[in-house]
Amino acid sequence: MTKSIPELVNTGIHKLRAYEPGKSIDELGRELGVSPIVKMASNENPLGPSQKVRAAIESHLDNLCVYPDADCYHLKTLLSDKLQVNNNQLVIGNGSNEVLELIAKVFLRDSDEVIFSEHAFAMYSIFSEAMGATLVAVKDRNWCHDLDAMADAISEKTKIIFIANPNNPTGTWVSKGELKAFLKSVPEHVIVVLDEAYFEYVDQENYQSGLHYIDRFPNLVVTRTFSKVYGLANLRVGYAVASETIAGYMNRVRQPFNVSGISEIAAIAALGDQEYLLKSLETNALGMAQLQMGVEALNLDYIPSVANFLTVHVGDVAQDIYQALLRKGYIVRPLSGYGMSNYLRISVGTEAQNQGFLVALKEVLDSL
Ligand SMILES: *Cc1c(COP(=O)(O)O)cnc(C)c1O
Repeated sequence: MTKSIPELVNTGIHKLRAYEPGKSIDELGRELGVSPIVKMASNENPLGPSQKVRAAIESHLDNLCVYPDADCYHLKTLLSDKLQVNNNQLVIGNGSNEVLELIAKVFLRDSDEVIFSEHAFAMYSIFSEAMGATLVAVKDRNWCHDLDAMADAISEKTKIIFIANPNNPTGTWVSKGELKAFLKSVPEHVIVVLDEAYFEYVDQENYQSGLHYIDRFPNLVVTRTFSKVYGLANLRVGYAVASETIAGYMNRVRQPFNVSGISEIAAIAALGDQEYLLKSLETNALGMAQLQMGVEALNLDYIPSVANFLTVHVGDVAQDIYQALLRKGYIVRPLSGYGMSNYLRISVGTEAQNQGFLVALKEVLDSL
């Protein structure tokens, strides 16, 4: 008996829906012909890349014809020094998305369960489902990960728990005490992944990075990225920190040359540009206050955020508002894919971008 192509596809992949990225400037330009366009949809750094990164990339152009270092030795050495871990505890990925996928590849098969929060980053379920694993989404509490409920959801079959801290798309975070108690309560046969894509932005005394616990819990993986505060989303560099054992397995399934030499050199330059980092954080803090005040003035509620985006309640006209903003050249992020169809997520921009966005939003609301 012959099988059709869909019947040949792995079960988990059959049901998969592809990730829906924020609309790009190019795409909107093609669709609606509007200009100028401001993208506040994917939590990118509104300052553009650092000058040091530009210079580093230019100096590397002669190397375009040779393969990059398959192991990112120089970036790893810089990171291990900065983070106080060994090179062997690091995995460098093509964006932190790739390291998240490597974790799924190393650990998951189709009898396994994966736990995450109901309003968590979409890639956790995509990577897990692709491996055939069963998804267990746990309700959150006031838009925050409910770590107690997540611990209660652990079964014999649980293999991985994904936690974003801070979380996207809510911008909420888990406290030091909650995190510690949770890590202590999780049995060792369960891998805990702490996705810290936005940790640099957090300014709360009661926040603690999972890196603090990396030596104590051999089942812990912390992931980070150069896509957000370091302004390198286009170059695709992220990393995982874990025990040498876990990092070793992840590096076995990782492709050699998964990160380009340009990306490695850019990440190194970005790590060395403290001024850019501080300016980015300051721009974000001011912009966040500006956006919060602006939406409050429009009588809209929002989820308090410690990251570089604000998720705003706009009601059941969210899709209309989104479309009307597009026509005015502002791209924000609708969240129906996250079960939050009455919300829009706005990435913090420059002062001028935030101001322009708030004016456009007011006009749209007035016209409804
Ligand atoms: C943006 C983001 C990432 C980063 O993805 P990259 O592949 O590093 O660009 C990871 N996790 C979350 C929750 C994010 O929002």
